Order: sequence, then structure tokens, then C-alpha cells
Amino acid sequence: MTTTIITGSASGMGAAVRRRLLADGERVIGIDLRDAEIHADLSTRHGREAAIDGALSQSGGRIDKLICCAGLGPHVDPATLVASVNYFGVVTLLDGLFEALRQGKAPCAVVVSSNSATLQSWAGSPLRDAYLAGDEDGVHALVRAAQEAGGEQAAQAGYLAYASAKNAVAAAARQRAASWGRAGVRLNVVAPGAVETPMLQAGLRDPRYGDAIRDFLPPLGRRAQPDEVAALIAFLCRPEAAYLHGNVVFIDGGVDAAQRPLAF
Ligand code: NAD
Repeated sequence: MTTTIITGSASGMGAAVRRRLLADGERVIGIDLRDAEIHADLSTRHGREAAIDGALSQSGGRIDKLICCAGLGPHVDPATLVASVNYFGVVTLLDGLFEALRQGKAPCAVVVSSNSATLQSWAGSPLRDAYLAGDEDGVHALVRAAQEAGGEQAAQAGYLAYASAKNAVAAAARQRAASWGRAGVRLNVVAPGAVETPMLQAGLRDPRYGDAIRDFLPPLGRRAQPDEVAALIAFLCRPEAAYLHGNVVFIDGGVDAAQRPLAF
């Protein structure tokens, strides 16, 4: 039986992946704020350590799959929390569980980013540099500066934290592709568009972001269901996907292609 660690397993896409793997007879160890095998707050350094310690002890130090779904939407205040969970809550677990993954059978990890990661360019952005340098205080300072600038910049600080974290987390995964590949551990990223989950519903209710989410329909004319993303994540972990590594796979109803038809 394989052992899978899923962060954000209590809701949305994480819960959909959990259901799917349990139905396949796999052992799943969920990490979430509540309703999970391991209760840990991935927004804090202490919570991340507790999550890693719990995952290592419950798995016996051998993990076959790591699926990082936990995240917060752009509507969550303060925006620094969004940056902490969506980037540092992912990368710390990837690195902290890497040795246990090396002990697994055909091991792999999947990180959930977002198609918002590429809706603007982050080349040369000090914010992205701070993420990739592991400078959480520096990231917070830059996000706070946007909040304190007032006006439209302040209103969009949550989106800035969200999109920058999603871009940086995909970049961080790709940066690990060479060393992880040599160690025999596959690592891929999925970049969903709008998916019908509690996070999206909360965004729709937010006066700053609700209209933009409502008005933004992908070329396929509908939002995704969590099970559709879970199916992709499950596939990326299967033997048939054994040569997929270091890739960012968009599952967004055509948004990325419509926005950036020539960039691939
Ligand atoms: P969701 O809110 O349904 O689930 C997210 C889960 O993460 C929740 O169970 C929540 O408790 C957990 N979580 C949040 N903060 C945490 C913390 N500090 N510590 C531990 N767990 C924490 O959301 P979802 O839509 O299923 O989102 C899953 C992932 O997909 C997220 O990373 C999100 O950014 C990303 N995403 C979502 C959409 C969308 O439209 N829903 C689109 C693109 C990407």
C-alpha cells in the first residue's frame, strides 16, 4: 500500500484528491487546520515543523506521494498570510519531506499553483526574488508596502500576494527538478483556473474580487470541478506519467492559451 501526504486535505481540491486515493485503497495522511490526521498551521514556521514531524512519524519515514494543495485565496486578510501559506507552507514541506520521499516507491510530489502565476510577468520582481531566497520577512515587507500604499494597490495587495506566491512556488518546484530527478523523485506543478471550491465561493463574496471572478469566464465557458483537478493530480502520480517531471500543467479551460498564445 502506498502512503500519500496531502496538505489542505479537508476541503476543495485536497479533499477531492483524498477521496480518490482512498477509493483506490491507498493510505492517506492529511495535513490541515482541522479534520485531518495532522493538525498544523502551515502559515507559521512552528506549524510547518509540526506538519513535517507528524508526517515523518505517521509515515514511518517513507512517503510515496506528497500533494501540496493547502492554500488561501486573494481575499484573505492579512495578505502576508496568503504569501506564507501559499509559498513557504509548500516549499518548506517539499524540502522537509524530500528524504522520506526518496525512500518511497516510484515517489512523486505535486504542487498546486494557479494560472494566475503567469497572468503577469514576474521577471526581475523583487517579490519573486525574496520568495526564492527564502526571505519570508522580506516578502511580508513588500506585501505590506503594497497594502500601505493605499488606493488600488492596497485593494489588490491580496491578489499580489496570491499571484506572486503561485508564480514563485512553480519556479521553486522547477528549480528542484534537476536534483530531485537525479534522486528519482518526480515533482510536477498543476496550475488550475477557477475551480468550484469553498475558496472560490469566498472570493465571489468579496467586494474587491467578486465581480472580477464572476465576469471572468474561460474559453470553455465554465469553471472546473475539484474532481477534474484531482484526476489530473492522480494521473501525475501514476506509472503512466513516469516521464513527466519538472512540468507545469495548466488545467484552466483555455485561459493561459487565450492570454499568452505565443508564450510556451
Ligand atoms: P479550499 O479553501 O477549499 O481548500 C484549501 C484547504 O487549505 C482548506 O482545507 C484549508 O483549511 C487549508 N489551509 C488553509 N490555510 C492553511 C494553513 N495555514 N495550514 C494548513 N492548512 C491550511 O481551496 P481550494 O480551492 O481547494 O484550493 C486548493 C489549492 O488550489 C490552493 O492552493 C489554491 O490556491 C489553489 N487554487 C484554487 C483555485 C480555485 O479557483 N479554487 C484556482 C487555482 C488554484
